[in-house]
Parts: sequence; C-alpha cells; structure tokens
Amino acid sequence: MRLGQETSTEAEERDGFRFRGGHPALDLTATLQGRLKGTPRELLAEPEDLARWLMAAGLAPSDLPCDADAVRVARELREAIHQLVHAHLSGASPPDRARRVLNQVARRGSAPRQLSAEGEALLAGDALQRLAFVANEAIALLGGTDRERVRKCENEGCAVLFVDVSRSGARRWCSMAACGNRHKVAEFRRRRS
Ligand SMILES: [Zn+2]
Repeated sequence: MRLGQETSTEAEERDGFRFRGGHPALDLTATLQGRLKGTPRELLAEPEDLARWLMAAGLAPSDLPCDADAVRVARELREAIHQLVHAHLSGASPPDRARRVLNQVARRGSAPRQLSAEGEALLAGDALQRLAFVANEAIALLGGTDRERVRKCENEGCAVLFVDVSRSGARRWCSMAACGNRHKVAEFRRRRS
C-alpha cells in the first residue's frame, strides 16, 4: 500500500488490526484492544505481529525482519502515545515519562521516504527506523494544530482514538459502521420504550 493512503471505512480492518484513527500513531494505540473493558488483548505479542502491523499500516513491505527488541519499543511507544493523547484530551500537559519515551524513539533516526519505480512514496529502513517514523508523526500531530482534531470515540467502552478530518469537525465515532451504528440502535430502542 502507498504511504499516507487514506483509510476508507471499508479498509478500517486489515489483517486483524484496526485502522480507524486516520493516523499511524493513533492506529498504533489500537493494537492493545479492549483497554476499557478490563480484558486487554495484546495484538503485538510476537515479532511477526509487529511485522504484520507495519505492513497493514502501509509502513513496511511484507518481508520486514522484526525482533523482540522492536516489539518492546513498539509497545513502549504505543503506551506513551496513548498517555500523551489522553493527557491532551483532558487538558493536561504532557506527562514526563511518556514524553521522554516518545522523544527517545523519535531520535533513533526516522525511516527515510523513497520514491519507488511506480512513482509511489515508500519507507525504507529497519523496524526501529519505521517506529521512529511513527514517533515523529506522533510529535507532528501532538505538537501541531491538528491536535485539536484528535478525539476519542464517544462510545464509552471504546478506546479508539482518531483524527477528525470532517469539514464540520463533529465526528463522534471511530467507525460509523461499528460504534456509530451501535449508538443509533440504542437510541432507537430508548425512544421506543
Ligand atoms: Zn468506537
């Protein structure tokens, strides 16, 4: 997949991972599922899981080698981004430890963009460089004006974070087909009873 390709609603689930955030840093936070349900499910358990996520996210080719160290960094980065976004959403300043982790990963040297023979922008580099790319994108998002567009899905049990790129800026759900529809059905039932 092309780097930076728009994630449409049909493509919001790829290879068992959710891509509802419209941003790689926010999609990374969704690799720990069920955060708010007391039964978290780790989707980045093994190096091959990280390789699959990077590929599904359009950040790597299918044969990218990953090791246990890259998985550890990916999870640390993910939790740092999660905490930083939540601090931002609650109006707090960035928590120190999370900020340090994010900056440290970003400093490793981001994967460079390369133009392919087909004229598409692709990333080069190893797994840690690609994670550094995600960290840099997270900093650009959280340190720029687009942070005002970052939302948590309004479905209480859903922890998905997304960038609201709608013109109205009034998007409420990570996915209209999932959480939006669930809300509509609940509203309908409530009105009828
Ligand atoms: Zn949701």
